[in-house]
Amino acid sequence: MDLKDLLSKVVEYALVHHLIEDEQTEQVQKKLGEMFLIRDFIVHKTQFHIDYSRMMNQLLDIAYEKQLFTPNILDERDAFEAKIIDVVMPDPRTVKAHFHQFYEIHPSLATDYLYRLSIDVNYIKNIRLKENISWTYSGKYGNLQMTINLAKPEKDPKEIAMALLRPIQIDLNRPKCVLCKENEQNYFNARMNLRLVPITLGHELWHFQYSPYQYYNEHSIILHDLHRPMKICDKTFEYLFDFVDLFPTYFIGSNADLPIVGGSILNHDHFQAGKHVFPIEEASVIKSFHAKENITVEHLNWPLSTIRLTSSSRIELIEQATNILHSWRNYTCENLDIISHTKNTPHNTITPILRKQQTFYVLYLVLRNNRTSQEYPDGIFHPHQDVHHIKKENIGLIEAMGLAILPGRLKKELELIRSFLKKELSLPNELIKHEAWINDLQLLDYIDDQILLNEVGKKFERVIEDSGVFKLTEIGNQKLHQWIEEIIKS
Ligand SMILES: [Zn+2]
Repeated sequence: MDLKDLLSKVVEYALVHHLIEDEQTEQVQKKLGEMFLIRDFIVHKTQFHIDYSRMMNQLLDIAYEKQLFTPNILDERDAFEAKIIDVVMPDPRTVKAHFHQFYEIHPSLATDYLYRLSIDVNYIKNIRLKENISWTYSGKYGNLQMTINLAKPEKDPKEIAMALLRPIQIDLNRPKCVLCKENEQNYFNARMNLRLVPITLGHELWHFQYSPYQYYNEHSIILHDLHRPMKICDKTFEYLFDFVDLFPTYFIGSNADLPIVGGSILNHDHFQAGKHVFPIEEASVIKSFHAKENITVEHLNWPLSTIRLTSSSRIELIEQATNILHSWRNYTCENLDIISHTKNTPHNTITPILRKQQTFYVLYLVLRNNRTSQEYPDGIFHPHQDVHHIKKENIGLIEAMGLAILPGRLKKELELIRSFLKKELSLPNELIKHEAWINDLQLLDYIDDQILLNEVGKKFERVIEDSGVFKLTEIGNQKLHQWIEEIIKS
């Protein structure tokens, strides 16, 4: 297909998906012509199905030949693709207005609108995401949700900590980080096709968008208007509750605010939300406590120490959660290796998650501690060295809830392990990190793909067990229950 036919297809695609109105066709043709340095082209309405990836790949090859971008790598191709699509989609003001109009009718119509749009303009890379591998692992804590993510590179916790120290870029056109609102319709980070909508949480301005990675259904991000660091504090609960009051069909959660136990971005305050039920929500209860009349307090049978608070009273729930947060910040139990501070450096924080169920609010507080020791230089309550071959990244909000996001490299490594176990090759260098595990696997009588994935699930279970502060042992449970009793009495 030649350039003119491809550009015609782009316009047709935009019309079919209602990204532009009929009367905008001429204006869009002119802009695309200018972008590709041609005078004019005709739009044919073929009515045939349009293969988006094929169309876009051919167009990007031509754009590269015409030296419209360089080098010819995935990041640059994504950035130029977003620039093409930006021409044939509604501008940020129109999207904000539509979202608001839909919201007035029903919150779900508004989120459906933005979600659909983000897919149609390929901001959510649905085609690439289909390559991800997912399965369920039934273990000690119910069904864990396992995924191998092929869309996002693995980040080292040390790099994340370094990013926090890095001075802010001075280039005015470049957003300070990938979450800043300035990314909207910005060529950097391939976000020309990104659209944000403003929302108010805790009387402050935040912005709502979908995640390009979609780790789960309708995975969305809520970012603060200002580039300010993550902070878990009393106000956090107000933001979370405001959100579920605005969007009752979505859960919302926050990563913790300290390195090692936080997510991959600590320097921009943000939350994650979406329409998905996580394994933590299906965990059984170890103990229920007699708290105030209107609140149920439960310790869950979950590898990361989790307290679930349920109530129809928003005010009382926030008060109780705030007490727990304050008390946890200063909690120390040397027998269990939990120490709240080293000199003035705090170690204790929480990962909060909130959902609204009819008239009830259900709040999960996952207790975290980021202290390191000589024995565990990466973190005492972080995946230990012997499971790093599967996962060495921080255990953030999503994994704390029981959804594993494993690095893309594992796909190839698992294939190699299968071949090695079938004696089809000698141990390649890439598999040296898995050597101890492979020795264990060799002891199994029989192994197929399903069994191998099951063994990966077992490792992930260990990864999240390492992240738990009060282990689910007699002494761990006893200390945790004792502490909970003290707080709810006060
Ligand atoms: Zn930022």
